[in-house]
Amino acid sequence: MTAANPRKGSKGGFATFGLDANILKAVQEAGYEEPRPIQAKTIRQVIEGRDVLGLAQTGTGKTAAFALPILHRLREGRGKNPRALVLAPTRELAIQIHKEFETFAKYTGMRALTVFGGVNQNPQIKGLRSRPEVVVACPGRLLDLMREGYAKLDGVEILVLDEADHMLDMGFLPDIKRILAKLPPRRQNLLFSATMPREIRSFADSLLHKPHTVELAHSAPAETIDHALYPVEERKKTALLRHLLSEKDFVSAIVFLRTKHRARRLARDLDAMGHRAVALQGNMSQSARQKAMEGFRKGQFDVLVATDIAARGIDVAQVSHVINYDVPNTPDAYTHRIGRTGRAERSGKACTFVTHEDFSAVKDIERKLKMSIQRIKLRDFGGEEGTKLSDRRGPAGGRARGGGDRGGTGRAGSTRLGGARRGGFGRVGGRLEAPAPPPVQVSGEDPPRLKRSRRSDGAPREAFGAGIEGDGRSGERRAGGGRPGRGGSGSRSAGGGASGSAGGGGRRRGGPRRRRR
Ligand code: AMP
Repeated sequence: MTAANPRKGSKGGFATFGLDANILKAVQEAGYEEPRPIQAKTIRQVIEGRDVLGLAQTGTGKTAAFALPILHRLREGRGKNPRALVLAPTRELAIQIHKEFETFAKYTGMRALTVFGGVNQNPQIKGLRSRPEVVVACPGRLLDLMREGYAKLDGVEILVLDEADHMLDMGFLPDIKRILAKLPPRRQNLLFSATMPREIRSFADSLLHKPHTVELAHSAPAETIDHALYPVEERKKTALLRHLLSEKDFVSAIVFLRTKHRARRLARDLDAMGHRAVALQGNMSQSARQKAMEGFRKGQFDVLVATDIAARGIDVAQVSHVINYDVPNTPDAYTHRIGRTGRAERSGKACTFVTHEDFSAVKDIERKLKMSIQRIKLRDFGGEEGTKLSDRRGPAGGRARGGGDRGGTGRAGSTRLGGARRGGFGRVGGRLEAPAPPPVQVSGEDPPRLKRSRRSDGAPREAFGAGIEGDGRSGERRAGGGRPGRGGSGSRSAGGGASGSAGGGGRRRGGPRRRRR
């Protein structure tokens, strides 16, 4: 092993790891010059055959952190293919990982195959018969193919569990355990997770042998992200969203909603209003999801309206805004959602819409992330012009800290972790604030509070679960695994039709301007 320290961005970059020349060539062609911190802290250890526990949020470069050393290791020796198995929670993530393996394996003669549900299994069966070196799979479909005798994993030497916390959320843990039981017991295990809930910690303890642990800003979002809360009435969320989409710094946004049904409807509404919006939710067919993702990546759409699970792990450069149209169910979900912006050391904005019902959820997020997020209250959307909730006294009498009034533009004021500031943004409060009072009712048209038993779109509260999504298998099998969330979100989803608006976007009806850099 070479002596240079890649942590310091040594001159040799990836060459310092002693990677195979054919792999290095592909790395250079991909434009990777210096290793990211997760890569600098992981690649060498994986090459040495150690187990790894990687605590890294999405967008940090963790795919290459395991793909490169795995390919390096696989070029030696001759085992029974597949020799490496990567388990990922969603099809989108599996596809992304597969692409990265293919990029780096270009000159090695090694092959990778993706296995996920929601599509015809015959091409996957054919692919498995050709015995690729690497299989990247969602647990559900893989288990089906194992049971049917098509996927034989008795040659697996290296196992990767990517986004382990998502797999837990999606109820995949039992499936994963069944898969693990069929793998050779002597193997190298790599586990990556953005967050480390207790269940994952104990699972990691049972799986990993003396792991090399890499912890990158555990449970904390990237510091390149500015955070802001927008108190808003439910019925004005879409108008507020359109306001944010018309801001000068808007490039593209992922908008998160609680349910598949709501995501589909909002994408349709935005499209009708002339925005280039597309839905990404689990009820869509695999080809519609892929079309939506590709369209968003290529700039055909600049707004991706998504549910948590469908959007997990997706990697799109240039997402300037993550907008939580609905507050996430858990602080971890917040971390994951906003991991879609500020990726690869770019900056981004995380905007969260907050209704009366959401204050305790927001408080949980602030407590978990150890920060107080700036409130921006805009008159047109249920607030008073130019004032922020942080300028008011909370119910507990605590004076909220943060930026002062910015003279009514309402554009300013957000919180960046770590106290870093960018021009025009508010200040991080140094302590956790009491939740701000509900927004002032400006118009008298609506009832001041939503009825607790029904959502604003009129559907019964129980009808809107977090939505059971996953790798395309029946929701039935996943139902028990979902973590019960706030506000009834642990319940099964009854909403959502068969298709999203993936095919329907791309048209433009003279709405807001395009700005795609
Ligand atoms: P990941 O966290 O693996 O999804 O990676 C996030 C993004 O960073 C992907 O688009 C990668 O292609 C990119 N990336 C990862 N490592 C590097 C690197 N060392 N240099 C340049 N880009 C990278």
